[in-house]
Amino acid sequence: MKTSISKGVLATSAGARANEIIRACVHCGFCNATCPTYQVLGNELDGPRGRIYLMKEMLESGHVDDVVETHLGRCLTCRACETTCPSGVQYGELVEIGREIVHYERPSRSLMRRFVTAVVPRRDLFEPLITIGRFFRFLAPSRFKRLVKKPPVHAAVDGDGEVVLLQGCVQRAVTPEVNAHLARLLAKRGVATRVVDDESCCGGLPLHLGDVADAKALARKNVASMKDERVSRVVSTASGCGVTWKDYGRLLGSVDARAVAAKVVDAAELLAEFEFERRLDVRKVAWHPPCSLQHGQALTGVVERILEQAGYELVPVADAHLCCGSAGSYALLQPGIADELRKRKVAALGRNDPEVVATANIGCQTHLADGMGVPVHHWLELLE
Ligand code: SF4
Ligand code: SF4
Repeated sequence: MKTSISKGVLATSAGARANEIIRACVHCGFCNATCPTYQVLGNELDGPRGRIYLMKEMLESGHVDDVVETHLGRCLTCRACETTCPSGVQYGELVEIGREIVHYERPSRSLMRRFVTAVVPRRDLFEPLITIGRFFRFLAPSRFKRLVKKPPVHAAVDGDGEVVLLQGCVQRAVTPEVNAHLARLLAKRGVATRVVDDESCCGGLPLHLGDVADAKALARKNVASMKDERVSRVVSTASGCGVTWKDYGRLLGSVDARAVAAKVVDAAELLAEFEFERRLDVRKVAWHPPCSLQHGQALTGVVERILEQAGYELVPVADAHLCCGSAGSYALLQPGIADELRKRKVAALGRNDPEVVATANIGCQTHLADGMGVPVHHWLELLE
């Protein structure tokens, strides 16, 4: 795609990078076919190609208007378009730059957005809020009910190994038992784990909303907390956090950030070398690969092989490449589109009568649990 961006903008690293990414696009439109928002809304501006045009115009004119703000805001950042693109357009990085400009020029006054960036990443605020929410669930707004559905399972990772388990912010408060179970699975196989107390939110929530400065501050804190040379692996059980941690080298550009990012693995990468048995007395499983796992981390087939080796039958699921609508804070900020995507995903997952649904990210797990009709587990909970 031809661009004519001013020299001043091109002199900035973000401007130069955006220009490079936009120029790689040959506007073929293949990406529209796999874009969930294009499928739901049917508007060119709600597909990747249209959004790339909007960002190009924004960079060329230096003007941020309602149109660009609206259509970039509706993007899930699922990166299905990256997986599809034959020209290797790095759309995720481009939309990050585009949203940073929108955020800078037009800081949002939305209360929900402020809640997402100011409260959710902060353990001292979010965890007490979830606890209070469980007692007063009947008063909670419908969009929050799914987070306070289950009573807490008191589970902690209590070890001193070299393999660090990331706790995340939402998963730590809502399903802490997932990490505790992984620690047990690994301990039985001779791998000692621990947690790092001052781990912060990965930064993914502010990053998706264009608050890059805030995301970088959280990333720097995390890099500092994991620099310890006794850390051999940093393991993520929430693929949405894992994809952000793995990207710290690019985000911060420092030697330390690159070194820490190189140690980050998804739990599936760590467990692939071991064998497991079935933990649940069910056989038919519908597997929902989160976008952050299949598109962000390009880990397709790994969890599937582990579950099949353990003795589960994975039922076919149509359109597995499509987002369920959770997408970090998206379900809170764009509830209409998120609900439609969930409805479609629930229908696709349920079509072949699974006994349970398995996924790999806390956001997908809580989002799909509403209306699925069968239990939705983290896939690790299926292993013994
Ligand atoms: S598939 Fe790639 S090259 Fe084609 S329009 Fe989409 S982003 Fe551009
Ligand atoms: S990231 Fe997802 S929602 Fe956004 S343009 Fe790409 S495919 Fe569409």
